[in-house]
Amino acid sequence: MAERLRIAIGGIALEASTFCPHRTTLEEFRVVRGEELLARYDWLQRDWAAAVEWVPVVHAYATPGGPALPEAYDVLEQELLAGLSGDLDGVFLDLHGALSVLGRRDAEGALARRVRGRVGAGTLVSASMDLHGNVSRELADAVDLITCYRTAPHEDEWESRERAARHLVARLHDGGRPLKAWVQVPVLLPGERTSTRDEPARGIYAQVPQVEALDGVLDAAVWVGYVWADEPRCRAAVVVTGDDPVVLRREAERLARSYWDARHAFALVAPSGSFAEVLDEAVASGSRPFVLSDSGDNPTAGGAGDSTVTLHALLADDRLAASGLDVVLSNVTDPAAARACAAAGVGAQVSLDLGGHVDTTAPPVPLTGVVTALDTSAGVRAVVRTGPVSVVVTERRAPLHRVSEFQALGLDLRSADVVVVKIGYLEPDLFAVAADWRLALTPGGVDQDLMRLGHRNLGGPVFPFDPDPPTPDLTPVLIP
Ligand SMILES: [Zn+2]
Repeated sequence: MAERLRIAIGGIALEASTFCPHRTTLEEFRVVRGEELLARYDWLQRDWAAAVEWVPVVHAYATPGGPALPEAYDVLEQELLAGLSGDLDGVFLDLHGALSVLGRRDAEGALARRVRGRVGAGTLVSASMDLHGNVSRELADAVDLITCYRTAPHEDEWESRERAARHLVARLHDGGRPLKAWVQVPVLLPGERTSTRDEPARGIYAQVPQVEALDGVLDAAVWVGYVWADEPRCRAAVVVTGDDPVVLRREAERLARSYWDARHAFALVAPSGSFAEVLDEAVASGSRPFVLSDSGDNPTAGGAGDSTVTLHALLADDRLAASGLDVVLSNVTDPAAARACAAAGVGAQVSLDLGGHVDTTAPPVPLTGVVTALDTSAGVRAVVRTGPVSVVVTERRAPLHRVSEFQALGLDLRSADVVVVKIGYLEPDLFAVAADWRLALTPGGVDQDLMRLGHRNLGGPVFPFDPDPPTPDLTPVLIP
């Protein structure tokens, strides 16, 4: 290829629980175009990327939540497809892989098929994904290269995107279309049981770069899949990409088998229990602050963020006030309540009908308290104090994960006794501040008690929904 390569960049990324009553609207997507889109990728300045004309199309990202409304999704998809114009050598798709559109299935598979239809067979398409995404046969068929993160909690998002783009450029220079060995593994587990910091995921993911380094292999990737969606594509998957069909199939099968063989060994990353159980432990403990994660309503995995299950339990617990404990609960998303706090101002008493409007597992909490802090820099964030409990109320579905975000609201987590946060495994900042912690198995859109969710559309036996599925055929499909 004598001329400068021309590669389009775009994507639509959302992690959406089909069990979550929240609906993701167009306004909730952060949409970037042009220079703002290119600025996402600092590797565009590197040597390997310099000789390419990168064409920014559109990238849209929303905080995890419930399924996207079809009319919202379609606007974004149409813009992306329309932007794939002119002669393109390649397309780099920046995806998550667990996008659900209300009433539809396999959103990324359908998107990739339409991208392929638009650019034709002569353009190479490379997709970068979250390892919590899913890879259907349709998606694997529609792209030429596909990879995902190799760490959870994620530390290599940008590195993964760069790898996907770099391999695309290298292949365009070398010419030819790579082969893919694709295989799904009938195991579907949450991130809280598949952290790559712990075995067995740690050992499985440690093999991935070793496979990538083999002769005849371009890339290797293992997906955990997304457990909070009820679709046939939801399960673990392996794709090994390259040129040597024997090596690709052998290595993809080996990775798939190591995942399958380890299925009984994936355990929750922290001690866990019902909220009543872990609250008892927190009250009795001498470790302060003691952090409890309200994992069933974790907005970073797709929870609605307004469940009141834990707040009801805290307010009904007479031990907290009696023992002089200082409790922080973060955060209940409730636009009307947050704006009422802002209107009342710091120091004012407010009476709220808080939370429980989207996730109706528990009803709204009739809460009377004093507004102790307000921050309106990114939507309203307020703290309402009632008895021993300081409740963070937010206008937007924005999870608070950093100690500094609490400090901005006058809350010093280090001096709190019990902290309840809507999260799964603790993010590093919270982990560092927690003297001890438990994962509360609360109900909600991202319930960790998987059997409570009620999957119906997995299409065949999948562990652990079927506790003892028949031994699967893990022979990979070789896709040209
Ligand atoms: Zn993820």
